[in-house]
Amino acid sequence: MTPAISMAYLFSAIMFILALSGLSKHETAKRGNYYGMVGMAVAIIATILSVQEGNYGLIAIAMAVGAVIGIFFAARVEMTQMPQLVAMLHSFVGLAAVIIGFNGYLQGAPSNELMGAVIKHDPVHNVELYLGIFIGAITLTGSIVAFGKLNGMISGKPMMIPGRHMLNLAIIILSVVGLIIFTPAHYSTQSTIILLVMTVLALFLGVHLVAAIGGADMPVVVSMLNSYSGWAAAATGFMLSNDLLITTGALVGSSGAILSYIMCKAMNRSFFSVILGGFGGDSSVADDSEIEGEVKPIEIDETVEMLKDADSVVIVPGYGMAVATAQNAVADLTSKLRKAGKEVRFAIHPVAGRLPGHMNVLLAEANVPYDIVLEMDEINDDFPETDVVIVIGANDIVNPDALDKPNSPIAGMPVLEIWKAKQTIVMKRSMGSGYSGVENPLFYKDNNRMLFGDAKDSVSKLVAGLD
Ligand code: NDP
Repeated sequence: MTPAISMAYLFSAIMFILALSGLSKHETAKRGNYYGMVGMAVAIIATILSVQEGNYGLIAIAMAVGAVIGIFFAARVEMTQMPQLVAMLHSFVGLAAVIIGFNGYLQGAPSNELMGAVIKHDPVHNVELYLGIFIGAITLTGSIVAFGKLNGMISGKPMMIPGRHMLNLAIIILSVVGLIIFTPAHYSTQSTIILLVMTVLALFLGVHLVAAIGGADMPVVVSMLNSYSGWAAAATGFMLSNDLLITTGALVGSSGAILSYIMCKAMNRSFFSVILGGFGGDSSVADDSEIEGEVKPIEIDETVEMLKDADSVVIVPGYGMAVATAQNAVADLTSKLRKAGKEVRFAIHPVAGRLPGHMNVLLAEANVPYDIVLEMDEINDDFPETDVVIVIGANDIVNPDALDKPNSPIAGMPVLEIWKAKQTIVMKRSMGSGYSGVENPLFYKDNNRMLFGDAKDSVSKLVAGLD
């Protein structure tokens, strides 16, 4: 590698670190994105220039095809489909790691030797190949299953195969034995079989691990697959001896792991119980006990009067706000209430929506002031002193059963305890359930009213009513 290419790679790595640090705060998130884009542009150009005897025509065609597909999907994707898109992109990283791994292995084939290829079959390279393919295969199928679950093509409920933990353990043990035999080996039929068997096992493990996770644990899976895709990229970097890919993969892998840890902590889950799929508790058992109370609908006019009478208002956004693209109307409602002298704050649950930080992104896009957007821990104790809580398309994150029913699929997940407020108003279109598929007793409580309809439509009518 020439010094100029090394310098370019170093520059890109620094840009990626600045991008990650920028993305950690609302105020600097946009700048963080720009750093990331510049870093990636420099990385791509430097990588192309570093190819000494490459087929530039083929590289150009591959890049053009990739760019067209990327632009086509990015332009069409709805904001609510971002989680699925991210899961799909993770699967591509896994697929790339598997293909590059096999390519690296096949370069050691005797036919290549005859053609004068440089055979690079040392044990360290074998370990890189093996681990790269293993992590890549898990990421590939795990991300495809996550895509299906987020897209609604596969049930969000955990799929529990009997003896699943023994099965996982057996696959891991077989894979480790395969690694021990494969490490010192040269290209041979036996090595090829070991690699193929391990790949099939890892592909199955990816499906099995993610299929077994459901309900409240899904957000951790998304960040965990993000982390896996980083490690798959880092493994690819080792296979290709590309320092920048190793650094970038390690950055993505470790930031995804830190995010998974933060999400687990926020949701009162142990990391291992999540990645092993409901380990230690059977949350798949449904609790069909009757819910007490009755549903009391409310109309726009009465809601407007309640808001006019309130001194303190807390807004709880959820996935439905994203579906309805109601964030700008919500920002209008906020400024109108603030102008009328009310104290307005937002309560953000760590897993609201379908992506980590989903609600924060939407509210930032609508220019809601950052200082009134509070995390769950900062606001959960304030509900008893709150006059009105408005829920905009949220469901699971305000479900009291998470605390009250040990058998619920969302049991143990801390929730926004809004039922302690003087009055709650839930905006949604029907009595339908949220992502975890469970009923919500909040809707039947004495101090709750249901404002049925599309969230954007309802909030716009409230804004008009407050004029
Ligand atoms: P939920 O999925 O629990 O509930 C969303 C509610 O929005 C639904 O009940 C729906 O009711 C309502 N809704 C949908 N469209 C509209 C609309 N146009 N107008 C008004 N309401 C609408 O969302 P929450 O944010 O409360 O909870 C997030 C859930 O997603 C959690 O279970 C979490 O574990 C899971 N999850 C989160 C991820 C993350 O990273 N944040 C990733 C993967 C899963 P109706 O149909 O009646 O309108």
